[in-house]
Amino acid sequence: MRTAELPGDGSEGQAARGALRLMARLGTLRTFASLLPELAVIGGFLVFLWAGLAAVLYHERGAAGTTAVNATANLARALEESARRTIGQIDTILMSGRAAFQEKGERFDFNAWARGQVLSDKMTAQIGMAGANGEMIGSTLPMKPGTSIADRPHFLVHNGTGPDALYISHPVIGRVSKQESIQFSRRMTRQDGTFGGVAVFSLASAELARFYEALQLGEGFVAILSTDGTVLARGPKLTEHNGSLLAAGGSTEAILTRSSGAAMYRDIPSGLKQITSFRRLADYPLIVMVGVDEETAFRAYRSLRDRAVVSGLAITLAVCGIGGLWVRQKRRSLQSRQSLAITLDTISQGVLMVDGRGTVRVINPRAAEMLALPGESQGAIAARATALLARHAGCGPAGGDQASQAFETSVKPGQMLAVRAHALADGGFVQTFTDVTRERESDARMRYMDDHDALTGLANRSRIRALLTDAIRHGAGAGTRAAVLIVDLDGFKAVNETYGHNTGDALLAEVGARLRVLAGSENAVARLGADEFAVVATGLRQATAVATLAARIVSSLAEPKAIRSDRLRTGASVGIALYPKDGDDADTLFRNAAAALDSAKAFGCNTFRFYDHAMGQAVSEQRQLEADLRKALDDDALDVHFQPKFNSQTLALSGFEALARWRHPERGNVSPGVFIPLAERCGLIRLLGQRILEKTCRCAAAWPRTYPVAVNVSVPQLRDGALKEQIEAILEETGLGASHLEIEVTESVVAEDGQTVLANLEAIRAMGIRVSLDDFGTGYSSLSYLRRFPFDKIKIDRAFVQGQADDPGVRVILEMILGMCQRLGLGTIGEGIETQAQLDVLREHGCTEVQGFLLGRPMPQGAAIAFIETVVAAAADPGGQAPAELMLAS
Ligand code: C2E
Ligand code: CA
Ligand code: CA
Repeated sequence: MRTAELPGDGSEGQAARGALRLMARLGTLRTFASLLPELAVIGGFLVFLWAGLAAVLYHERGAAGTTAVNATANLARALEESARRTIGQIDTILMSGRAAFQEKGERFDFNAWARGQVLSDKMTAQIGMAGANGEMIGSTLPMKPGTSIADRPHFLVHNGTGPDALYISHPVIGRVSKQESIQFSRRMTRQDGTFGGVAVFSLASAELARFYEALQLGEGFVAILSTDGTVLARGPKLTEHNGSLLAAGGSTEAILTRSSGAAMYRDIPSGLKQITSFRRLADYPLIVMVGVDEETAFRAYRSLRDRAVVSGLAITLAVCGIGGLWVRQKRRSLQSRQSLAITLDTISQGVLMVDGRGTVRVINPRAAEMLALPGESQGAIAARATALLARHAGCGPAGGDQASQAFETSVKPGQMLAVRAHALADGGFVQTFTDVTRERESDARMRYMDDHDALTGLANRSRIRALLTDAIRHGAGAGTRAAVLIVDLDGFKAVNETYGHNTGDALLAEVGARLRVLAGSENAVARLGADEFAVVATGLRQATAVATLAARIVSSLAEPKAIRSDRLRTGASVGIALYPKDGDDADTLFRNAAAALDSAKAFGCNTFRFYDHAMGQAVSEQRQLEADLRKALDDDALDVHFQPKFNSQTLALSGFEALARWRHPERGNVSPGVFIPLAERCGLIRLLGQRILEKTCRCAAAWPRTYPVAVNVSVPQLRDGALKEQIEAILEETGLGASHLEIEVTESVVAEDGQTVLANLEAIRAMGIRVSLDDFGTGYSSLSYLRRFPFDKIKIDRAFVQGQADDPGVRVILEMILGMCQRLGLGTIGEGIETQAQLDVLREHGCTEVQGFLLGRPMPQGAAIAFIETVVAAAADPGGQAPAELMLAS
């Protein structure tokens, strides 16, 4: 087992390694335990094999022993019979000799008698007789005269009072035959009953060897023993050992005392173990023994045994080999099953396998956790999984795989499962389950976030657009009506600026909530952007109902709203487009509602407007103009005119204001009051501003005498972080000094909350460029702004300049503004001066500069240069008039 890299060398790492080792060992033990049946089968087979072999061999060995014993016993019986017959013959011969001897007395002729004796089997033997003194009286073999056997036991045993019986000697070297032989002897008695001598039959021990050879006993033997254990004859090869005592160890007593039997004994002369049968002769004190050596007796058995053992070993080897392979195979499959089990236990997916009979075959804990309700059986789980398949039949994965299904489902509340199922050949199936609850939740959250406005919780622009598109599509041709109401707050920017963002946000949320209530559940509400909302009303059938809703929206939003501790008052304007009258797609309807909103705002806010065709035309005209402006910018077709400004006391030329001019190829001159707001709306103002600034600086630098020139800068330009660099580059390029440049910003700048606007204003002033607040008194201006924003001059709007004559209230305000600016040390310019009276009022109240048609109209560069030259010439003429006076005079 490979151990994974473990973090740390500390005791933690060691403990983890120890635990891993222990687990590995436990795993090995478990594997071993699982292999026990196989090992038992193999072991059992081998035990059985060897036990069987042992039993067979044991039996074979016993059978071989029995066969040997039986053979020797049969031989012993035959030998006994043969010995009995032979000895009987011998005894008969001896008895006949004795009888002849007794009968004939002195006339007995040994040779004549001996000739009449026929020895069966052509036995090598000698018959002889000795007289009472032991001297031989005759023999069938030639002998020296006077040969005596008086000292021999077979003579001595008869020369006494012992019973008259056949005597059988131990092997001795025959005195006549000169070879080892056994002497059979009988006492002879004379007619008077006295001892007359001994008849002797001498049988060569070699005779027995011949018998043995005939039997072909291999390394076996045949022996005749006397009952005292003396070997009389055995043979054939070991004849020289005849006469020795039987040395059969523990078997000796049995051999010497029992009438017959079998014994195992180690033959001393040959050193071989012999399987022996013995029989005691009934009539004579003799024992016959037949032995067959173990080697011979068990030869067949041993060869069988050797072959059996070799075969057994071969089988054992084969079994071990095959068994080893088997066990290895099994172990591998066990290991892979274990790792599969571990995998199934630990993966986050659920796996379930149900067979064709509906029995759960495999189920991992995760699947049980996902599918089972508390306390449920596996059968119930299988049934549920089967039901899932049936319910989602036909949900095959892409590619048309008939055997597979993929679907998402919910088994338990609050849980979403992605299921993949695969049919099995037996009618069962495998299912895997992945918990996709979180993914689906986050999908839903994402969808919600994609579709909704975070601040108000309302739908956003794309969502409500989609809702409207859906409503149109589903109701197409069914007489469906719908209305798009775009609601824009009046004065929201001021609230944001005055009370801060949090209050602004709370106000928007409150507006959203009111709109939701007003729109009702049938209609959808969205926040389109900043302070712009939309209601898509699909539940209103009549235009009057739409008008009622719009009116309620306007009046409801005009009511003061309690936000935090403040009571805020804002108004709302509403533009309305109706489906299908004003458009048959969402984009057109929204565009037309926006046009209606513009119209409502233009009318003076706090009202609603239905779209009408003229508005549409205005919109398309706007779009055409926008395209023309774009082209004009591309062609560098815009121009700059310069309107002079004068010192109000001396009426000396104090500078110029640069004013953009666009001569439209078809429409002629288009007012900056039209194309500047257009450029602001369609994002062209930065480019336009840059072009005007460049032209202005280039022109101003070319004047015969340098005068300060003021350029109008729009708020969107001030939001540009690169404005300062842009101005620097232009000054650098045109060579105009920063101190000769002024910029004019409108009052709407004070409603701006962006840090960039303020930073830009400060950076511009830091460059030495003066900043004037244009159109003062028309918009949001309150005197407190004058302190917060870094202005050098205040330009008093021409509405005050021109209105003061008719309206004493305006006059008071004008005087107040001028007085206050004087106290604050701010320069003032009165603009739009068209009459002497207006000029006089401004001069009287300390306005520092004046500008207006009365004193000088905007003029192109050439006229401006001529104007400056006149001024310069007049200045050279000590009696001359100031240029403004010239103009006034003309
Ligand atoms: P403004 O900045 O208030 O410019 C003064 C306007 O008053 C100019 O109108 C000028 O021709 C006009 N005017 C001057 N003296 C008199 C007078 O005695 N009587 C009357 N009735 N009008 C007088 P104009 O050129 O049509 O410009 C309108 C506005 O367009 C400007 O108002 C300014 O806000 C904007 N504008 C003009 N050029 C530019 C520009 O290059 N950049 C930006 N951002 N705005 C510009
Ligand atoms: Ca201006
Ligand atoms: Ca102005």
